Amino acid sequence: MPKKVLNKRMNTQILQFNTKNIELCAEEISKGGIVAFPTETVYGLGADALNATAVKKIYAAKGRPSDNPLICHISDRSQVEKFAYITPMAEKLIDVFMPGPLTVVLKKKNVPDVVTGGLDTVGIRMPDHKCALALIDACKVPLCAPSANTSTKPSPTTARHVFDDLNGKIAYILDGGACGVGIESTIVDCVNGAILRHGGIPREEVERVVGKLGSPPKSDVPLCPGMKYKHYSPNATVILAACGDDQRQRIKTAYDNLSGKKVIFSTTDDYDGRNVCIVGADIREYAHNVFALFRKMDDENYDYIICEGVPEAGLGSALMNRLVKASGGNII
Ligand code: AMP
Ligand code: MG
Repeated sequence: MPKKVLNKRMNTQILQFNTKNIELCAEEISKGGIVAFPTETVYGLGADALNATAVKKIYAAKGRPSDNPLICHISDRSQVEKFAYITPMAEKLIDVFMPGPLTVVLKKKNVPDVVTGGLDTVGIRMPDHKCALALIDACKVPLCAPSANTSTKPSPTTARHVFDDLNGKIAYILDGGACGVGIESTIVDCVNGAILRHGGIPREEVERVVGKLGSPPKSDVPLCPGMKYKHYSPNATVILAACGDDQRQRIKTAYDNLSGKKVIFSTTDDYDGRNVCIVGADIREYAHNVFALFRKMDDENYDYIICEGVPEAGLGSALMNRLVKASGGNII
């Protein structure tokens, strides 16, 4: 066992995924601690969802506003009905997409208010990741887990990203390598029939299973991350060039008008020899790499990142949502 530290700052250890370390992390969680772990979307920062004191530590470590609810992660589909009232829509989605990057929002049962930001609903997801499932199994409770980054920063897709943000604030980071999807889950409100956040499963695939979905209902409380708060932003200023005929020219003009260190995120174009970072050959790769590249540009002290926008279809809707938020509305 690592030595207990007397002051509040602890030494954060990155642990390889193996049975011994899963047990170590499960013990930390059962004592009311918080642990970062990989999922197929991004790294999560987990606590026992039934322990309100532990859950508060997540908000403190991230600097996350307390009215922004957390998703509960389970390791077995049968756990959904222990913590929520299932609807026919949820049943269909669970059948097709669980485990996977899709969160169902349902009326809650037995879930502390601190997890749900005071809402009477709860978001539930089963990650499609060996390490996450092993940890949840070992804990024998659902783990509520937002992304394991400092609030407002790009989401972490490697153990190192988590360390860079949370070193000294949590005991352990389970390292399961780079996340496969690279952006967060799609959130479906299965009470009102609406997509609350675009994510790893495209709207089109969800609607193929449950039919046309609505837009989120108007509300004073945040129904989804990013609806109210700044999100996913690197230190560099992000400029998003929306799709359109003259996109290439807009990007070149914006680039040429800026002084300071700048880079263009592009899928294929070299923009006539300007400083271009190829983000991937297609939208799936762009989504997979975008947060890691934001962080890399910050490490290299870039002032500006100009991002090629993509069509808002399929995974492109989720990617554009993240790019719009990261740009803070700075769209050309
Ligand atoms: P993240 O910040 O990426 O961990 O995603 C968690 C997000 O899931 C929250 O910010 C919420 O917006 C959404 N979420 C969780 N629980 C609920 C809920 N009960 N109702 C609506 N959205 C929820
Ligand atoms: Mg997040």
